[in-house]
Amino acid sequence: MISSDTLVDYPTGATSSRGVVLATLPLEAGLGVVLDRTALHAVDAGWPDQPADRGTLTIGGTAYPVLDAIVGATEGDEILVGADIPVRTGAEGWSFVVVHVVASDARVQVGDEVEVTVNERYRRALSAGHTACHLASLALDAALADAWTKEVPADSLGAPGFDALACDSSLITENGSVDVYRIGKSLRRKGFDPAALDDLAAVAARANAQLDEWLASDAGIRIDRDGPRLGDRRRWVCELPGGDAVIPCGGTHLTSLGEFAAMAVALDRQDAEGAVSLTMRTTAVFGGPR
Ligand SMILES: [Zn+2]
Repeated sequence: MISSDTLVDYPTGATSSRGVVLATLPLEAGLGVVLDRTALHAVDAGWPDQPADRGTLTIGGTAYPVLDAIVGATEGDEILVGADIPVRTGAEGWSFVVVHVVASDARVQVGDEVEVTVNERYRRALSAGHTACHLASLALDAALADAWTKEVPADSLGAPGFDALACDSSLITENGSVDVYRIGKSLRRKGFDPAALDDLAAVAARANAQLDEWLASDAGIRIDRDGPRLGDRRRWVCELPGGDAVIPCGGTHLTSLGEFAAMAVALDRQDAEGAVSLTMRTTAVFGGPR
């Protein structure tokens, strides 16, 4: 029986950890392995923006590739995964665990000691993509600040929170992200004027100028967290010269904007059924002189 969350090390940037097997569960994709502690980031079905890390579980001298890693939840007995979880991660009365999926025939038993090794190159690429995703969302908020006729909740930098109000889906990729926004009746009622999207090239140019300015600051990035457990709240903090940018976040990130050579967004719109679907593709480039 599992009575507390998996302790997670990835918010500190760790890519290896040691743990003990608390439970195994047969899944369609393989054998699910729950440890007391892990450095491996799992995808959260509730907001599946950052894909799972790649890596291995080494048990008794054998390295088993991790085929997938998903967040599981339990009230004490059965461990539920994916869409079967009826609550959001962090909900009271539940324990949240990282379920590492390995091959069905892996020889894993409760009590086994496990060394977790995360693929560092892939982690770094996803971390860059996730940092770029957050920064781009703030740049888009700023670029659309004049599009509002009514007061709406602001983002952490003071711009009307377009991203928070309109974001439909967000996918982190290696060195980038794809965010889809929906501008329909409810957003218009909140005071957003869709005419602001008529000249998308101008919106993208404003967002990209803002990104260039932020990148030039080489600002530090950190993850603040309420505790070491998977279900504890965590926040991405980017220490920009004008003040901290803060976004609730369960993912992984780089530690400085100085690690990027460039970052840019491209915007694209599709009109359907009285709504506009806006896609923002963000790309980031590592290192080198700017
Ligand atoms: Zn995030």
